[in-house]
Amino acid sequence: MATVEHGGVRFARITLEDCLPLAQRLQAAGGGWHSHVLSPGCRHNPFPDHYAVVIEDDSAAIAHIAEGTQAFPEVDKALVKMLHGDDILDASALTGAGGDCALLHQLQDVQAQGVAWHHHMHFPDCVFNPHPGDWSIAVETPSGAFSEAFPAEPVDVLRAVEVLYFGNLAARESEARESGARE
Ligand SMILES: [Zn+2]
Ligand SMILES: [Zn+2]
Repeated sequence: MATVEHGGVRFARITLEDCLPLAQRLQAAGGGWHSHVLSPGCRHNPFPDHYAVVIEDDSAAIAHIAEGTQAFPEVDKALVKMLHGDDILDASALTGAGGDCALLHQLQDVQAQGVAWHHHMHFPDCVFNPHPGDWSIAVETPSGAFSEAFPAEPVDVLRAVEVLYFGNLAARESEARESGARE
């Protein structure tokens, strides 16, 4: 199988079309799995100009990677819902829980500064996890990264982060469409 190595992690290469069926197979098998979307420029991404989707088979300790394009890979939204519930991207499901979360406070500062950022949700076995063995969320900005570990799956914090992230993405996509329409 073709592989690619980056940042000390060896990935088995798959295609974007393989991602959803692979995730469904892993989910049905009942073992642990999780996924990531990696932005162009993300420190974990071997492909500097393209998005990538990572599917980790936690039981077999295999990290699969699919190289995407310059467009956000929509399959990520399906994968995130499989992992964290159908309302994980839903602003109307925000509870205000996690209001005392240091990571959310720091992220709100970053967001207020208009700095580009993205995040990673780390399952305990994640190859990218800055807090191995714990659940954690990391935020990357052009000037560095910050993260917080949690004793259990931080669903409410993640939902707040995802809603902010996809709000930014939608705003960027609509700006791009408008500037395209003007040309
Ligand atoms: Zn990243
Ligand atoms: Zn991972």
